[in-house]
Amino acid sequence: LFSHVELAPRDPILGLNEAYNADTRATKVNLGVGVYYDANGKLPLLKAVREAEATRIQGAPARGYLPIEGIAAYDQAVQNLLFGAESSLISAGRVATFQAIGGTGGLKIGADFLQRLNPQAKVLISDPSWENHRALFENAGFTVETYPYYDAQTRGVNFAGMLQALEQAAAGTIVVLHACCHNPTGADLSAEEWQRIIAVAQARELVPFLDMAYQGFGDGIKEDAIALDLFAASGLNFFISSSFSKSFSLYGERVGALTVVTDGKDETARVVSQVKRVIRTNYSNPPTHGATVVATVLNTPALRSMWENELAEMRERIRAMRAGLVEKLQAAGVTQDFSFVLRQRGMFSYSGLTASQVDRLREEFGIYAVSSGRICVAALNQQNLDYVVQAIASVVRA
Ligand code: PMP
Repeated sequence: LFSHVELAPRDPILGLNEAYNADTRATKVNLGVGVYYDANGKLPLLKAVREAEATRIQGAPARGYLPIEGIAAYDQAVQNLLFGAESSLISAGRVATFQAIGGTGGLKIGADFLQRLNPQAKVLISDPSWENHRALFENAGFTVETYPYYDAQTRGVNFAGMLQALEQAAAGTIVVLHACCHNPTGADLSAEEWQRIIAVAQARELVPFLDMAYQGFGDGIKEDAIALDLFAASGLNFFISSSFSKSFSLYGERVGALTVVTDGKDETARVVSQVKRVIRTNYSNPPTHGATVVATVLNTPALRSMWENELAEMRERIRAMRAGLVEKLQAAGVTQDFSFVLRQRGMFSYSGLTASQVDRLREEFGIYAVSSGRICVAALNQQNLDYVVQAIASVVRA
């Protein structure tokens, strides 16, 4: 049975983590990760989460099955967070939300549902994108291609290229868009650019699928949802996958959602019935713990404001590290302009470091980054920043 099974290629980022773990240098730094570390280099457990968990454990709840679409209070809280509690989309019954196994699960059930609706549709993802987007949509049965996104010259978005690719896409093409804090580049669209994307999506009858994995890591919870507000106002049908992995530091609990925006109540009811079939045949129904905790925090005012403060603290620490990196590189005599790092949003920066500079960082300094030059700014802290700056200064100089 297994004699012809080939060894699958190693996940490049997990491979990086293995190499980092095996490195014995005390000064080593892992900038290859995709998680937020606090000022002490630790993965945080948020206070709001701890309180909600303590209450839950005290109540010793039984662990029955959840409904296929998940906890109602959680699904509602997700919608409120994405669109605002006062959203007319929500009151009109145009929004269906399904608790999912992380943001990845939200993408997967959305992809499987879309595959049933339109198996011939092509999927377009950004170039570059989160590496799982391609594999996930291909596994769901789609042909996946890319639209231009990152412009290495300006270190921003190649908006003209992106727009042109979308203008040429066939009707029904599924376009995966990073709603904020683009992974891996950190380069986001402006509100005006989003408007133009929406106009093309309308004219070309495209199917937007917004991936919202970092709400609150850019400029704020509401500010980071600007693309969603604009899509909501457009009257389009669209998909959103969202995740609390980062914003609640609940990576391993797998807390995310799929949200679908329809034309109205009747359509919502039919869509819900079909997405439930997709979920039922994938994993039957979602797990209880993480979503209960998130719903409790979001729906309890005291915990909610505690969480918002903790999220703001994460966001501000990342921005302080961006500023520190840029300032200290300049102070170290690096003439190359790194000010673009300040314009990037979210956890990542496409640093502009070449693959060979990344190799030298690893070999000479024990600093691990992705070969594309992507660094996780959230892995920087006051203890390792000077060391990282000196190392970068030394590899960009020679
Ligand atoms: N989309 C993007 C753009 C991501 O960066 C990630 C996580 N790295 C995900 C989706 C998946 O999130 P989750 O861990 O919640 O499945």
